[in-house]
Amino acid sequence: MPLYDFHCPECSADFELLMRASDQPVCPKCGNHSVNRLISRVSPPGKSKAIIASARAQARKEGHFSNF
Ligand SMILES: [Zn+2]
Repeated sequence: MPLYDFHCPECSADFELLMRASDQPVCPKCGNHSVNRLISRVSPPGKSKAIIASARAQARKEGHFSNF
């Protein structure tokens, strides 16, 4: 299931929910049903880039940076 970011215009809460497209998002703070879905901050390409970056850092620590 994808993770979505939401913003509640009623109480200004920002929250994340794991949900299917058919699910109705509800604000966990005030129960408002008309919340705004935001573009997720962690997109798959950004995530894999971060994984590569940490793998490079690990390789550098272990002394075989040339593999990358
Ligand atoms: Zn709310």
